[in-house]
Amino acid sequence: MERLQGIAVSPGVAIGEVLVMDNEGFRIPRRFLSRDAVDDEMERLDKAIAASTAEIERHRVRVSQQLGKDSAAIFSAHIQMLNDRGLRAKLEEMIRQRHYSPEYAVSRALRYYAKIIQSLEGDYMPERATDIFDIEKRLLRHLFGKRREELAHINAEVLVLAHTLTPSETSHLNPKYVKGFVTEIGGAGSHTAIVAEALGIPAVVGIGPFLSNVSGGETAIIDGYQGVVILHPDEETIARYRHEVVQYHTHAAKLEKLRDLPAVTADQVTIQLLGNIEFPYEVEQCQKRGANGIGLYRTEFLFLSRDTEPTEEEQTAAYTAVATALKGQPVVMRTIDLGADKMPGLSPPEDEDNPFLGLRSIRLALKNPEMFRTQLRAILRASTAGNISIMFPLVSTLLELKHAKMMLREAREDLDEEGAAYDRDIKVGMMVEVPSAVVMLDHFAEEVDFFSIGTNDLIQYALAVDRSNKDVAGLYTAADPAVIRLIDMAVRTAQSREVPISMCGQMCGSPLYTMLLLGLGLRSLSLTPAAIPEVKQVCRRVNLSSCERVAQRVLELESARDVKTYLKEELSKVLPEVPV
Ligand code: PEP
Ligand code: MG
Repeated sequence: MERLQGIAVSPGVAIGEVLVMDNEGFRIPRRFLSRDAVDDEMERLDKAIAASTAEIERHRVRVSQQLGKDSAAIFSAHIQMLNDRGLRAKLEEMIRQRHYSPEYAVSRALRYYAKIIQSLEGDYMPERATDIFDIEKRLLRHLFGKRREELAHINAEVLVLAHTLTPSETSHLNPKYVKGFVTEIGGAGSHTAIVAEALGIPAVVGIGPFLSNVSGGETAIIDGYQGVVILHPDEETIARYRHEVVQYHTHAAKLEKLRDLPAVTADQVTIQLLGNIEFPYEVEQCQKRGANGIGLYRTEFLFLSRDTEPTEEEQTAAYTAVATALKGQPVVMRTIDLGADKMPGLSPPEDEDNPFLGLRSIRLALKNPEMFRTQLRAILRASTAGNISIMFPLVSTLLELKHAKMMLREAREDLDEEGAAYDRDIKVGMMVEVPSAVVMLDHFAEEVDFFSIGTNDLIQYALAVDRSNKDVAGLYTAADPAVIRLIDMAVRTAQSREVPISMCGQMCGSPLYTMLLLGLGLRSLSLTPAAIPEVKQVCRRVNLSSCERVAQRVLELESARDVKTYLKEELSKVLPEVPV
């Protein structure tokens, strides 16, 4: 049994057989051969070794001609390793005696060698392990040929283990079959994590290198509450986790009873609880949990889940479907927030050294006016179907906001000329997720109908920590006093200018922060649908004067650790039955 600790990003427990995706998206099935297939499969293995050797030899010759013999030496080493007699004997034994498929044998044998090498001391060793992974990948590519399996084609229940999954790959996972996933890299604020939550798949990211220990087919447990992954669990551990799953369902069933009750504090202040969605089908999940509408529709996922840009008609249809399904409840359509970790197959910007500081979000939209205009037209056209508002993401300067509003005005004028209908009173807001926007909020207040605080980005830009990087994950927290002060500033400025302000970052999906956020003056929160019942429960048990006291106290604290400890104490007073 091996216990690995990572970052919990999507709650739930999954127990099952693992499927390893290598960096190129191959899946390595644990397949056993029938006795009479063994000879043919050995021949297939030998052909793959020969083809891989020929390929490396071609590289060796080319590099040697262009860069000299020394630079080509690594290819000779690869050829030697690939044709090592010990390796060939081990593979043959696995295929003939244990009846493993060649793919599975290659993966097992080479990962075994890589693991031994990784455990040896010395700077040189990790590089040698990388060489072995290279050889594994090359051999697998030849073995698989065109039979490359894609994530979307998984059709048996598995837990997916991968080095990384992009948000768009994650959005292709079918929750019917993919019961959980684990990645070696990634952080709590990454969009991959957000999509996992949307799909309701337990997920743990940022485990660090561990895939060399797994080859596929083993049993594992993914604990999406604690960020733990257990490989080869024993019977007792499996039984304990099964029990936990039952307990969780009992707790969730109790919370379900809150669905039709309002989120009203003990002293009768109504809190608006809205849902965050990435895909139209999530509207139903929001309604099931008693959301008052959608406070954030991440429309870019319409672009991410396909290879070509959606047309105006396709977008209009998707937005209309969401607005109609909400039956008059509000929906805030955030305009495309692409770039950085959310890059579809569409013309990506030049290589960027710092994509999160580069051409992303509203900047990318303004640089692609055709794409942006098409979306604005689609949102406007859909606005007759329900209660739609428009929100611009990642605004960092007033000029950007004015530019975006100008494009919206032009889209309206075009529709006017065409005689197309749209909601003439449509509200226009912006996300507050860059410290510069907080500092300049009084000026922004002159330009918008509402604000929504995006803590996922605000944390990363306020604290200079990449939201997707596991190595700085310890610094990435909403509990940091600097973040809380920025939220406080934003709320106070918006209130003084009488512009409504809400929050849609992941922070408000955690009951730990509910009292603080109400105490700071927020009355509207938009969160992951699954988190609505628990946050509603906190709202119903507190009164505002105690929330204000909590907020005042938190504003005096000096570290994230102090803030968390204090908030846990306060939460346990109102929710003693839930461990925090
Ligand atoms: C945020 O940054 O808080 C936010 C809600 O937007 P996203 O997570 O999509 O960047
Ligand atoms: Mg954001």
